[in-house]
Amino acid sequence: MMGMFCRKCKSLMPPNSKRCIACGATLNPNDISNQSSLDGLGPKRKPVELVAEENKDAPYLPYKPRGCQLDIISDIRMALDEGRHIIIESGTGTGKTIVSLSAGLEHAKKTGKKIVYLTRTISQSNQVMRELKAISKIKPVSGLTITGRNKSCPLFRGTKDYESLSPKVLSMMCEEKRSKSMKGAAGGCRYFDRIKTEVDDVTNYVMNNFPTSDELDRYCEKNGVCPYEMKKQLMKKFDVVAVPYVHILSADIRSNLMANLDLEDNPEGMLLIVDEAHNLVDAARDQESFIINRDLVDNAIDECSTMKGDPTVWMEVTLKDFLGYFKNSIRNVATEKLGLNEKEVVLTDDYIEQRMMTKFGMKSQDLESAIERVIDFGEARTEILMERGDNRVSDIQSLGFLMRDWCSSASDRFVRSLKVDQDGEYLSAKCIDPYEISFFLNSIPGAIHMSGTLQPLDQYARVLGLKGNPRFRIYPSPFPPENRSVLYVNDVTTQQKEMQKDGSMQHRLENYIAMLCNSVQKNTLVFFTSYSFMRMMRPYLETHVNKSLYWEESRNQRKTMENLAAFRNGRDGVFFSVMGGSVAEGMDFPGDELCFAIIVGIPYPPPSSEQRAMSAMFDQRYGAGKGWIYTSEVPALRKMKQAIGRLIRTETDRGMAVILDNRASRYVKQLDAKLTDDPAGEATRFFR
Ligand code: SF4
Repeated sequence: MMGMFCRKCKSLMPPNSKRCIACGATLNPNDISNQSSLDGLGPKRKPVELVAEENKDAPYLPYKPRGCQLDIISDIRMALDEGRHIIIESGTGTGKTIVSLSAGLEHAKKTGKKIVYLTRTISQSNQVMRELKAISKIKPVSGLTITGRNKSCPLFRGTKDYESLSPKVLSMMCEEKRSKSMKGAAGGCRYFDRIKTEVDDVTNYVMNNFPTSDELDRYCEKNGVCPYEMKKQLMKKFDVVAVPYVHILSADIRSNLMANLDLEDNPEGMLLIVDEAHNLVDAARDQESFIINRDLVDNAIDECSTMKGDPTVWMEVTLKDFLGYFKNSIRNVATEKLGLNEKEVVLTDDYIEQRMMTKFGMKSQDLESAIERVIDFGEARTEILMERGDNRVSDIQSLGFLMRDWCSSASDRFVRSLKVDQDGEYLSAKCIDPYEISFFLNSIPGAIHMSGTLQPLDQYARVLGLKGNPRFRIYPSPFPPENRSVLYVNDVTTQQKEMQKDGSMQHRLENYIAMLCNSVQKNTLVFFTSYSFMRMMRPYLETHVNKSLYWEESRNQRKTMENLAAFRNGRDGVFFSVMGGSVAEGMDFPGDELCFAIIVGIPYPPPSSEQRAMSAMFDQRYGAGKGWIYTSEVPALRKMKQAIGRLIRTETDRGMAVILDNRASRYVKQLDAKLTDDPAGEATRFFR
């Protein structure tokens, strides 16, 4: 039967729905389509042939092996059996998901380990379930996908402001409901109440059907049971659990995951598979980074007025005075340290903390205990807000946690700075050395890290802080190399210095893009280095490219998806995007959906205090020059390879990429690129 999907958010709807169960939109027949947001986004590959009987070299591989799959499985198996991490770059078409699962399962079944498969997107975790289902045809195996509470809570979904609730608030709201349910009191959660009675049925459903995350949520809801809590209960029974990155990167969520898997005291019992591993380090840095903005501080100070009495945080120091002086300290440091027209000053010392301590005559442990009092007051205030039905965390509590993080971020692992924007000054702590995840990864005996763009592999291991003796392996794509052509031109660049020097550079770049787009009748993707570059060139391109044009919208994912769907449905359109964005990475464009890519500039990260600090850190650790390579060159190359990688997704795809930047000459070998002075002519001939 054909599924029905909400036109607004593209979620799957049960039959005869009056309201979208995901976004809460009211539905009439015109609001329902038979296409989900992910439909058509997956590759339409040739079906792979299932094996008739078990392959003794790869007992968990359900397909006839192709290319170097048996080598990959054997290499992974050997590394895991030796208790080592294995770091793999393997080209498109090598079947990364199936080979890592096949090898991982062989090791995990033998050793009694649980596989935790880290994915970046829901479609990747759905792919894990599809492959497990195929494996189940030849071997007993089970798997489950986990998503956050905000995707799976049927009780609160559809209520006012649901989409803007923070995970923390939703967790508190849920906890309150569950505690009432457990006490048998009124006002509990009816979906939680049914877990015990439904657990066997849902277990059987998952074991037999390998549902995607969406399918499992719908099944649970149909049976009146909470999908999120059910998955928590079930996960220890399954061989493979697919989870988003944050389940490992956040220390709190990770410890819950380990407890739910019964691995709390036994991290060695986990076999980790990291999909799209080139994203892991940045995701880990982002996880630990934070800001304290002016609005939050102001709101917390205002909130003090709503509290009874004038509570003190230390000796005679009131909460309001303490937070008020925190705000003054930020402002004073800004006045003293920021020069005219400067937007940022790196704080190499604990200026803010010192000011607070001097003002109130505190020692550092006094400051810490005062901040703990702020958190206590904040928590009490949050309880009142929740009881009142405000469904939000107190600003005092949020600020208290961030002040605590700020004090503990005074280390080489963070770049702490004071920044100013149109809303005023704020504090920023950017993590440059994600020690948390390194520590965890080094505590487990082996994991599989894989990606299509991970070279240089030793750099990945170093940046991640992996100790021991990881195994490095590179496997080429099995697709015919002649199906792909990468060219570059040497008479333009997006280098800022050159663009400032040469007033005609922007126009020459625009002219190149328009000429190339108009030279072939093929679906074309144009990748820019940033949204601001794309915006700058948009007016010219809109009037000079004679095609249907589609744009990635920087803060509007839904609109981007609609534009993308329209682009994919046609065969002679141009989609304008940025490198490193959701379109340039992780999306498949098989066959004629994409044939031509134009890369405008080399996507070196923009200079920033974090970049400089990271570069200096790697220079110091690994030798002069390594910092630039690790923090600028390698990320830029990965982004270009990801963008070029969109062209060839199946064995019959043909595609060409043209890089509009003379600096590509430095990366001829890594990109397999050739110089041309007639890219439009070359493109016409390639596609003729
Ligand atoms: Fe929502 Fe489940 Fe919590 Fe009930 S138990 S509030 S359905 S997450």
